[in-house]
Amino acid sequence: MAQANSWLLRGGTLVTVDRSQPVLIGDLLIVDGVIAALGPAVSSDPRSASVPVIDVSGCVVMPGLVQAHIHLCQTLGRGLADDLPLLRWLSERVLPYEAALDERNIQLAAQIGVAELLLSGTTTLLDMGTVRHHDALCEAVAVTGIRATLGKAMMDYPDTVPLSLREDSQASLREADALCARWHGRGRLRYGYAPRFLVSCSDELLRGVAERCQQHSTDGPGIHTHASEQLDEIELVQKRTGKDNVEALKALGIAGPRTVLAHCVHVSDHEMRVMAQDGTHVTHCPSSNLKLGSGIAKIVQLLAAQVNVALGADGAPCNNRLDGFAELRLLSLLQKGLHGPEALPAAQALEIATLGGAKALGQAAQIGSLQVGKRADVVVVGQGSPGQLPVHDPVSLLVYGSQGSDVRHVFVEGELLVEHGQLTARTGLDVERLRAHSAEQMPVLLRRAGLR
Ligand SMILES: [Zn+2]
Repeated sequence: MAQANSWLLRGGTLVTVDRSQPVLIGDLLIVDGVIAALGPAVSSDPRSASVPVIDVSGCVVMPGLVQAHIHLCQTLGRGLADDLPLLRWLSERVLPYEAALDERNIQLAAQIGVAELLLSGTTTLLDMGTVRHHDALCEAVAVTGIRATLGKAMMDYPDTVPLSLREDSQASLREADALCARWHGRGRLRYGYAPRFLVSCSDELLRGVAERCQQHSTDGPGIHTHASEQLDEIELVQKRTGKDNVEALKALGIAGPRTVLAHCVHVSDHEMRVMAQDGTHVTHCPSSNLKLGSGIAKIVQLLAAQVNVALGADGAPCNNRLDGFAELRLLSLLQKGLHGPEALPAAQALEIATLGGAKALGQAAQIGSLQVGKRADVVVVGQGSPGQLPVHDPVSLLVYGSQGSDVRHVFVEGELLVEHGQLTARTGLDVERLRAHSAEQMPVLLRRAGLR
Protein backbone atom coordinates (compact mmCIF):
# COMPACT_ATOMS: atom_id res chain seq x y z
CA MET A 1 0.00 0.00 0.00
CA ALA A 2 1.51 3.31 -1.09
CA GLN A 3 2.07 5.92 1.62
CA ALA A 4 1.71 9.70 1.26
CA ASN A 5 5.43 9.82 1.95
CA SER A 6 6.51 7.28 -0.69
CA TRP A 7 7.22 8.44 -4.25
CA LEU A 8 9.16 7.70 -7.37
CA LEU A 9 10.65 10.84 -8.95
CA ARG A 10 11.28 9.66 -12.49
CA GLY A 11 13.77 10.85 -15.06
CA GLY A 12 15.60 13.80 -13.49
CA THR A 13 19.12 15.09 -13.09
CA LEU A 14 20.08 14.43 -9.47
CA VAL A 15 22.54 16.84 -7.86
CA THR A 16 23.30 14.84 -4.74
CA VAL A 17 25.87 16.88 -2.74
CA ASP A 18 27.50 13.48 -2.21
CA ARG A 19 31.12 13.76 -3.33
CA SER A 20 31.28 10.08 -4.32
CA GLN A 21 28.61 10.59 -7.03
CA PRO A 22 27.83 14.30 -7.33
CA VAL A 23 25.52 14.14 -10.36
CA LEU A 24 23.36 11.19 -11.42
CA ILE A 25 20.89 10.87 -14.25
CA GLY A 26 17.90 8.78 -13.28
CA ASP A 27 15.21 8.34 -10.65
CA LEU A 28 14.86 8.90 -6.93
CA LEU A 29 12.82 6.42 -4.90
CA ILE A 30 11.36 7.56 -1.57
CA VAL A 31 9.89 4.91 0.74
CA ASP A 32 8.24 5.95 4.01
CA GLY A 33 9.95 9.34 3.98
CA VAL A 34 13.45 7.94 3.45
CA ILE A 35 15.60 7.93 0.29
CA ALA A 36 15.50 4.23 -0.67
CA ALA A 37 17.38 4.29 -3.99
CA LEU A 38 18.66 6.75 -6.57
CA GLY A 39 20.27 6.67 -9.98
CA PRO A 40 19.83 4.96 -13.33
CA ALA A 41 18.76 1.52 -12.07
CA VAL A 42 15.92 2.50 -9.75
CA SER A 43 13.09 1.56 -12.12
CA SER A 44 14.05 -2.11 -11.75
CA ASP A 45 13.65 -1.86 -7.94
CA PRO A 46 10.44 -3.78 -7.09
CA ARG A 47 9.50 -1.17 -4.47
CA SER A 48 9.17 1.45 -7.21
CA ALA A 49 6.20 -0.38 -8.74
CA SER A 50 3.84 0.35 -5.86
CA VAL A 51 4.40 4.08 -5.27
CA PRO A 52 3.01 7.15 -7.06
CA VAL A 53 5.22 8.48 -9.86
CA ILE A 54 6.12 12.13 -10.43
CA ASP A 55 7.72 12.99 -13.77
CA VAL A 56 10.79 15.17 -13.15
CA SER A 57 12.28 14.98 -16.64
CA GLY A 58 13.99 18.24 -17.55
CA CYS A 59 14.26 19.13 -13.85
CA VAL A 60 17.12 19.16 -11.36
CA VAL A 61 16.54 17.25 -8.11
CA MET A 62 18.56 18.40 -5.11
CA PRO A 63 18.61 18.15 -1.31
CA GLY A 64 16.48 20.82 0.38
CA LEU A 65 18.28 24.01 1.39
CA VAL A 66 19.18 24.25 5.09
CA GLN A 67 19.10 27.82 6.39
CA ALA A 68 20.92 28.02 9.68
CA HIS A 69 19.96 31.54 10.72
CA ILE A 70 16.38 32.86 10.42
CA HIS A 71 14.06 35.01 12.54
CA LEU A 72 10.54 33.90 11.60
CA CYS A 73 8.98 36.21 14.20
CA GLN A 74 10.36 39.23 12.30
CA THR A 75 8.57 38.48 9.04
CA LEU A 76 5.87 41.10 9.67
CA GLY A 77 8.71 43.65 9.99
CA ARG A 78 9.66 43.28 6.32
CA GLY A 79 10.28 46.79 4.98
CA LEU A 80 9.98 48.39 8.44
CA ALA A 81 13.68 48.80 9.20
CA ASP A 82 15.55 49.69 6.03
CA ASP A 83 18.77 51.66 5.62
CA LEU A 84 19.97 51.64 9.24
CA PRO A 85 23.13 50.30 10.96
CA LEU A 86 22.70 47.27 13.23
CA LEU A 87 22.46 48.82 16.70
CA ARG A 88 19.99 51.55 15.56
CA TRP A 89 18.15 49.00 13.40
CA LEU A 90 17.66 46.97 16.58
CA SER A 91 16.87 49.69 19.12
CA GLU A 92 14.72 51.97 16.94
CA ARG A 93 12.81 49.47 14.82
CA VAL A 94 13.20 45.73 15.46
CA LEU A 95 13.04 45.60 19.26
CA PRO A 96 9.96 47.92 19.46
CA TYR A 97 8.38 45.69 16.79
CA GLU A 98 9.21 42.50 18.72
CA ALA A 99 7.98 43.97 22.01
CA ALA A 100 4.60 44.70 20.40
CA LEU A 101 4.02 41.21 18.96
CA ASP A 102 1.14 39.21 20.41
CA GLU A 103 0.54 35.48 19.93
CA ARG A 104 -1.55 35.94 16.79
CA ASN A 105 1.09 38.21 15.22
CA ILE A 106 3.81 35.67 15.96
CA GLN A 107 1.81 32.83 14.45
CA LEU A 108 1.13 34.86 11.33
CA ALA A 109 4.78 35.94 11.03
CA ALA A 110 5.86 32.29 11.30
CA GLN A 111 3.29 31.13 8.76
CA ILE A 112 4.29 33.78 6.21
CA GLY A 113 7.98 33.02 6.78
CA VAL A 114 7.56 29.25 6.44
CA ALA A 115 5.41 29.72 3.32
CA GLU A 116 8.16 31.80 1.73
CA LEU A 117 10.88 29.34 2.79
CA LEU A 118 9.09 26.24 1.51
CA LEU A 119 8.09 27.82 -1.79
CA SER A 120 11.72 28.78 -2.40
CA GLY A 121 13.20 25.37 -1.55
CA THR A 122 14.25 25.57 2.09
CA THR A 123 13.32 22.42 3.98
CA THR A 124 15.17 23.00 7.29
CA LEU A 125 15.81 26.13 9.32
CA LEU A 126 17.48 27.23 12.52
CA ASP A 127 15.41 30.01 14.01
CA MET A 128 15.80 32.61 16.73
CA GLY A 129 12.42 33.74 18.09
CA THR A 130 11.64 36.68 20.29
CA VAL A 131 11.48 36.80 24.07
CA ARG A 132 7.78 35.97 24.51
CA HIS A 133 5.02 33.75 23.07
CA HIS A 134 7.42 31.09 21.86
CA ASP A 135 4.90 28.25 22.14
CA ALA A 136 2.74 30.07 19.59
CA LEU A 137 5.66 30.13 17.13
CA CYS A 138 6.48 26.45 17.70
CA GLU A 139 2.84 25.43 17.21
CA ALA A 140 2.58 27.44 13.99
CA VAL A 141 5.77 25.92 12.57
CA ALA A 142 4.99 22.35 13.69
CA VAL A 143 1.80 22.04 11.65
CA THR A 144 3.44 23.10 8.38
CA GLY A 145 5.70 20.04 8.11
CA ILE A 146 8.96 21.99 7.66
CA ARG A 147 11.98 20.78 9.68
CA ALA A 148 13.13 23.34 12.24
CA THR A 149 15.30 23.98 15.26
CA LEU A 150 13.67 26.79 17.24
CA GLY A 151 14.61 28.77 20.31
CA LYS A 152 13.21 31.75 22.17
CA ALA A 153 15.47 34.81 22.19
CA MET A 154 17.05 35.35 25.62
CA MET A 155 17.95 38.90 26.73
CA ASP A 156 18.65 40.10 30.25
CA TYR A 157 21.45 42.71 30.14
CA PRO A 158 20.22 45.88 31.85
CA ASP A 159 22.37 48.41 29.96
CA THR A 160 21.33 47.34 26.48
CA VAL A 161 17.92 45.64 26.58
CA PRO A 162 14.79 47.84 26.73
CA LEU A 163 12.53 47.22 29.71
CA SER A 164 9.77 45.96 27.43
CA LEU A 165 11.87 42.91 26.52
CA ARG A 166 14.28 42.57 29.45
CA GLU A 167 14.16 39.26 31.30
CA ASP A 168 15.25 38.05 34.68
CA SER A 169 18.23 35.74 34.01
CA GLN A 170 16.98 32.71 35.91
CA ALA A 171 13.39 33.16 34.70
CA SER A 172 14.66 33.25 31.11
CA LEU A 173 16.62 30.01 31.63
CA ARG A 174 13.63 28.31 33.29
CA GLU A 175 11.33 29.32 30.44
CA ALA A 176 13.82 28.07 27.84
CA ASP A 177 14.15 24.76 29.74
CA ALA A 178 10.38 24.32 29.73
CA LEU A 179 10.19 25.09 26.00
CA CYS A 180 13.03 22.66 25.32
CA ALA A 181 11.23 19.93 27.29
CA ARG A 182 8.03 20.56 25.31
CA TRP A 183 9.44 20.88 21.79
CA HIS A 184 12.87 19.21 21.43
CA GLY A 185 12.38 16.03 19.41
CA ARG A 186 8.66 16.60 18.88
CA GLY A 187 7.89 15.68 15.27
CA ARG A 188 10.38 17.55 13.06
CA LEU A 189 11.13 20.21 15.67
CA ARG A 190 14.20 20.54 17.84
CA TYR A 191 15.14 23.16 20.39
CA GLY A 192 18.17 25.46 20.25
CA TYR A 193 18.93 27.83 23.16
CA ALA A 194 19.12 31.31 21.64
CA PRO A 195 20.81 34.00 23.75
CA ARG A 196 20.49 36.92 21.31
CA PHE A 197 24.08 38.19 21.37
CA LEU A 198 26.71 38.93 23.94
CA VAL A 199 25.71 42.59 24.09
CA SER A 200 22.19 41.73 25.31
CA CYS A 201 23.07 38.83 27.62
CA SER A 202 24.66 38.66 31.06
CA ASP A 203 27.50 36.28 31.90
CA GLU A 204 25.08 34.45 34.22
CA LEU A 205 22.62 33.84 31.39
CA LEU A 206 25.28 32.69 28.90
CA ARG A 207 26.91 30.39 31.46
CA GLY A 208 23.51 28.93 32.28
CA VAL A 209 22.87 28.17 28.61
CA ALA A 210 26.31 26.55 28.19
CA GLU A 211 25.86 24.36 31.29
CA ARG A 212 22.49 23.10 30.10
CA CYS A 213 23.77 22.11 26.69
CA GLN A 214 26.81 20.35 28.16
CA GLN A 215 24.51 18.21 30.32
CA HIS A 216 22.65 16.79 27.32
CA SER A 217 23.69 13.94 25.03
CA THR A 218 24.97 14.74 21.53
CA ASP A 219 21.38 14.61 20.32
CA GLY A 220 20.37 17.30 22.81
CA PRO A 221 19.62 20.96 22.17
CA GLY A 222 22.24 23.24 20.66
CA ILE A 223 23.11 26.93 21.04
CA HIS A 224 22.37 29.64 18.49
CA THR A 225 23.58 33.22 18.86
CA HIS A 226 24.93 36.20 16.89
CA ALA A 227 28.60 37.22 16.96
CA SER A 228 30.93 39.77 15.37
CA GLU A 229 28.39 41.24 13.00
CA GLN A 230 29.43 44.93 13.19
CA LEU A 231 32.39 46.86 14.55
CA ASP A 232 30.47 48.90 17.14
CA GLU A 233 29.02 45.66 18.55
CA ILE A 234 32.56 44.25 18.83
CA GLU A 235 33.67 47.45 20.58
CA LEU A 236 30.91 46.99 23.19
CA VAL A 237 32.01 43.39 23.76
CA GLN A 238 35.67 44.41 24.10
CA LYS A 239 34.77 47.18 26.54
CA ARG A 240 32.82 44.77 28.74
CA THR A 241 35.03 41.67 28.52
CA GLY A 242 38.41 42.81 27.20
CA LYS A 243 38.07 40.13 24.51
CA ASP A 244 36.83 39.63 20.99
CA ASN A 245 33.45 37.91 20.58
CA VAL A 246 34.63 34.36 19.90
CA GLU A 247 36.98 34.30 22.91
CA ALA A 248 34.51 36.08 25.18
CA LEU A 249 31.77 33.58 24.28
CA LYS A 250 34.15 30.64 24.65
CA ALA A 251 35.19 31.82 28.11
CA LEU A 252 31.53 31.50 29.10
CA GLY A 253 31.18 28.03 27.53
CA ILE A 254 29.50 29.16 24.29
CA ALA A 255 31.65 27.17 21.83
CA GLY A 256 31.91 23.71 20.32
CA PRO A 257 30.18 21.44 17.83
CA ARG A 258 26.69 22.27 19.07
CA THR A 259 27.18 26.05 18.86
CA VAL A 260 26.19 28.11 15.82
CA LEU A 261 27.43 31.70 15.57
CA ALA A 262 25.57 33.82 13.03
CA HIS A 263 27.60 36.33 10.96
CA CYS A 264 31.25 36.35 12.18
CA VAL A 265 31.93 39.12 9.65
CA HIS A 266 34.82 40.62 11.61
CA VAL A 267 36.82 37.75 13.10
CA SER A 268 40.58 37.56 13.42
CA ASP A 269 42.78 34.70 12.20
CA HIS A 270 43.15 33.69 15.83
CA GLU A 271 39.36 33.56 16.31
CA MET A 272 39.09 31.41 13.18
CA ARG A 273 41.63 28.95 14.58
CA VAL A 274 39.76 28.83 17.90
CA MET A 275 36.45 28.10 16.15
CA ALA A 276 38.07 25.40 14.00
CA GLN A 277 39.69 23.72 17.04
CA ASP A 278 36.42 23.80 19.00
CA GLY A 279 34.20 22.73 16.09
CA THR A 280 32.07 25.88 16.43
CA HIS A 281 29.91 26.53 13.33
CA VAL A 282 29.46 29.83 11.49
CA THR A 283 26.32 30.83 9.61
CA HIS A 284 27.04 33.29 6.83
CA CYS A 285 24.23 35.72 5.97
CA PRO A 286 25.45 37.57 2.87
CA SER A 287 22.35 39.67 2.03
CA SER A 288 21.85 40.74 5.63
CA ASN A 289 25.52 41.66 6.00
CA LEU A 290 25.37 43.80 2.87
CA LYS A 291 22.05 45.50 3.65
CA LEU A 292 23.06 46.43 7.20
CA GLY A 293 26.44 47.56 5.87
CA SER A 294 28.20 45.06 8.13
CA GLY A 295 30.83 44.02 5.58
CA ILE A 296 31.72 40.78 3.82
CA ALA A 297 32.56 37.74 5.92
CA LYS A 298 35.90 36.04 5.20
CA ILE A 299 34.33 32.81 4.03
CA VAL A 300 37.32 31.64 1.98
CA GLN A 301 39.59 32.06 5.01
CA LEU A 302 37.08 30.43 7.38
CA LEU A 303 36.84 27.40 5.09
CA ALA A 304 40.63 27.26 4.74
CA ALA A 305 40.86 27.25 8.53
CA GLN A 306 38.49 24.23 8.54
CA VAL A 307 35.52 26.02 10.12
CA ASN A 308 32.16 24.56 9.07
CA VAL A 309 30.13 27.27 7.34
CA ALA A 310 26.35 27.28 6.83
CA LEU A 311 24.10 29.79 5.09
CA GLY A 312 21.09 31.82 6.23
CA ALA A 313 18.85 34.68 5.10
CA ASP A 314 18.56 36.12 8.64
CA GLY A 315 15.26 38.04 9.05
CA ALA A 316 12.84 39.83 6.76
CA PRO A 317 13.70 43.31 8.17
CA CYS A 318 17.38 42.97 7.21
CA ASN A 319 17.28 41.11 3.90
CA ASN A 320 14.29 41.51 2.96
CA ARG A 321 13.76 38.08 1.38
CA LEU A 322 14.11 34.59 2.79
CA ASP A 323 14.93 33.03 -0.61
CA GLY A 324 17.83 30.62 -0.02
CA PHE A 325 18.76 30.66 -3.71
CA ALA A 326 19.48 34.41 -3.47
CA GLU A 327 21.86 33.71 -0.55
CA LEU A 328 23.47 30.82 -2.40
CA ARG A 329 24.32 32.96 -5.44
CA LEU A 330 25.60 35.85 -3.31
CA LEU A 331 27.71 33.51 -1.17
CA SER A 332 29.77 32.56 -4.20
CA LEU A 333 29.78 35.91 -6.03
CA LEU A 334 30.92 37.96 -3.04
CA GLN A 335 33.95 35.75 -2.47
CA LYS A 336 34.83 35.97 -6.17
CA GLY A 337 34.68 39.75 -5.85
CA LEU A 338 37.24 39.53 -3.03
CA HIS A 339 39.46 36.70 -4.23
CA GLY A 340 38.92 36.29 -8.00
CA PRO A 341 36.66 34.14 -10.17
CA GLU A 342 38.05 30.79 -9.07
CA ALA A 343 37.06 31.35 -5.43
CA LEU A 344 34.15 29.38 -3.95
CA PRO A 345 33.00 27.42 -7.01
CA ALA A 346 29.37 26.39 -7.43
CA ALA A 347 29.68 22.88 -5.98
CA GLN A 348 31.33 24.20 -2.81
CA ALA A 349 28.65 26.89 -2.39
CA LEU A 350 25.88 24.32 -2.78
CA GLU A 351 27.50 22.09 -0.18
CA ILE A 352 27.54 24.98 2.30
CA ALA A 353 23.84 25.71 1.66
CA THR A 354 22.81 22.10 2.27
CA LEU A 355 25.28 19.82 4.05
CA GLY A 356 27.00 22.73 5.81
CA GLY A 357 23.69 23.66 7.43
CA ALA A 358 22.95 20.05 8.30
CA LYS A 359 26.34 19.76 10.05
CA ALA A 360 25.72 22.99 11.97
CA LEU A 361 22.47 21.51 13.26
CA GLY A 362 24.06 18.15 14.13
CA GLN A 363 21.83 16.47 11.54
CA ALA A 364 24.28 15.59 8.77
CA ALA A 365 23.57 11.87 9.18
CA GLN A 366 19.89 12.51 8.44
CA ILE A 367 19.70 15.38 5.92
CA GLY A 368 21.77 17.68 3.69
CA SER A 369 22.44 15.37 0.72
CA LEU A 370 20.66 12.84 -1.49
CA GLN A 371 21.95 9.53 -0.14
CA VAL A 372 20.28 6.22 0.53
CA GLY A 373 19.05 6.07 4.12
CA LYS A 374 18.74 9.84 4.61
CA ARG A 375 15.40 11.56 5.16
CA ALA A 376 13.81 12.54 1.88
CA ASP A 377 14.08 16.33 2.17
CA VAL A 378 14.12 16.90 -1.56
CA VAL A 379 13.61 19.88 -3.86
CA VAL A 380 12.79 19.69 -7.56
CA VAL A 381 13.92 22.76 -9.50
CA GLY A 382 12.71 23.62 -12.99
CA GLN A 383 9.53 25.51 -13.70
CA GLY A 384 10.52 25.62 -17.37
CA SER A 385 11.31 29.35 -17.43
CA PRO A 386 13.59 30.62 -20.25
CA GLY A 387 16.14 31.69 -17.62
CA GLN A 388 16.71 28.00 -16.83
CA LEU A 389 17.67 27.09 -20.40
CA PRO A 390 19.85 25.44 -21.55
CA VAL A 391 21.15 23.10 -18.82
CA HIS A 392 24.85 22.53 -19.55
CA ASP A 393 25.80 22.06 -15.93
CA PRO A 394 23.08 21.38 -13.32
CA VAL A 395 25.22 22.57 -10.38
CA SER A 396 25.92 25.86 -12.14
CA LEU A 397 22.19 26.16 -12.89
CA LEU A 398 21.29 25.78 -9.20
CA VAL A 399 23.91 28.19 -7.84
CA TYR A 400 24.21 30.91 -10.47
CA GLY A 401 21.07 30.52 -12.57
CA SER A 402 18.17 29.74 -10.23
CA GLN A 403 15.91 31.62 -7.88
CA GLY A 404 13.28 30.53 -5.41
CA SER A 405 10.50 30.91 -7.95
CA ASP A 406 12.10 28.15 -10.07
CA VAL A 407 11.23 25.58 -7.38
CA ARG A 408 8.59 23.15 -8.61
CA HIS A 409 8.16 20.51 -5.86
CA VAL A 410 9.34 20.31 -2.25
CA PHE A 411 9.31 17.22 -0.04
CA VAL A 412 10.15 17.07 3.65
CA GLU A 413 10.62 13.53 4.90
CA GLY A 414 8.80 12.38 1.78
CA GLU A 415 5.74 14.56 2.38
CA LEU A 416 4.85 16.74 -0.58
CA LEU A 417 4.63 20.29 0.81
CA VAL A 418 4.98 22.22 -2.47
CA GLU A 419 3.55 20.88 -5.72
CA HIS A 420 3.91 22.69 -9.03
CA GLY A 421 5.02 25.82 -7.19
CA GLN A 422 2.03 25.88 -4.81
CA LEU A 423 1.79 25.01 -1.12
CA THR A 424 -0.14 21.78 -0.61
CA ALA A 425 -3.03 21.32 1.85
CA ARG A 426 -0.63 19.31 4.08
CA THR A 427 1.09 22.57 5.13
CA GLY A 428 -2.16 24.17 6.36
CA LEU A 429 -0.87 27.36 4.71
CA ASP A 430 -3.13 29.35 2.42
CA VAL A 431 -1.46 32.37 0.83
CA GLU A 432 -4.76 34.25 0.33
CA ARG A 433 -5.58 33.81 4.01
CA LEU A 434 -2.08 34.96 5.04
CA ARG A 435 -2.53 38.08 2.91
CA ALA A 436 -5.90 38.85 4.53
CA HIS A 437 -4.60 38.30 8.07
CA SER A 438 -1.58 40.49 7.37
CA ALA A 439 -3.79 43.35 6.14
CA GLU A 440 -5.98 42.98 9.24
CA GLN A 441 -3.22 42.73 11.86
CA MET A 442 -0.57 45.16 10.65
CA PRO A 443 -2.25 48.53 11.45
CA VAL A 444 -2.90 47.47 15.06
CA LEU A 445 0.59 46.02 15.47
CA LEU A 446 2.28 49.14 14.10
CA ARG A 447 0.25 51.40 16.40
CA ARG A 448 1.14 49.25 19.39
CA ALA A 449 4.82 49.30 18.41
CA GLY A 450 4.75 53.07 17.91
CA LEU A 451 6.18 52.60 14.43
CA ARG A 452 3.51 54.47 12.46
ZN1 LIG B 1 19.91 37.45 13.12
